[in-house]
Amino acid sequence: MKEMQKQKKVPAWVNKPLDQLSKQEWERLCDGCGRCCLRKLADSETGDIYYTSLVCQLLDTELCRCTEYSCRRQYIPECLTLTVEDIPNLPWLPFTCAYRLRYENKPLPEWHPLISGCDESVHEAGISVRGYALSETQVPEADWQEYVIEWIK
Ligand code: SF4
Ligand code: SF4
Repeated sequence: MKEMQKQKKVPAWVNKPLDQLSKQEWERLCDGCGRCCLRKLADSETGDIYYTSLVCQLLDTELCRCTEYSCRRQYIPECLTLTVEDIPNLPWLPFTCAYRLRYENKPLPEWHPLISGCDESVHEAGISVRGYALSETQVPEADWQEYVIEWIK
């Protein structure tokens, strides 16, 4: 991993409770990892959720950003507009997700762009889906279970 470029000042609001963030601060809290846009499979017997390396068709797999973010629900109606209240009810939300971390009153990690001052740090740290995510359109749904993944960090 390349050395991360530190910005001069981390915004003071990153440590504010989530329900006190402005809409702009809330949006900026996203680390741009794209993990939440990966398709998931649920075990019908146990309810366990498994992530796959297949990603929503609207995700730019290089930038790891939604290509239609402001109007995404026109195309993907089930895409969630995350709120503070949702977080405890979303067991699938990645353990690295900035919203989960702050909800649990944990600090943002050094690779988070707000801490590092560099948008690339989330990719350089191996947290984002860049490099392995494949569009869901490339694999028939019947074969998705062959793409189950496990995160180690
Ligand atoms: S997992 Fe969380 S921090 Fe990462 S892209 Fe999704 S909402 Fe943003
Ligand atoms: S619509 Fe956009 S934000 Fe929603 S899952 Fe797809 S790529 Fe992610």
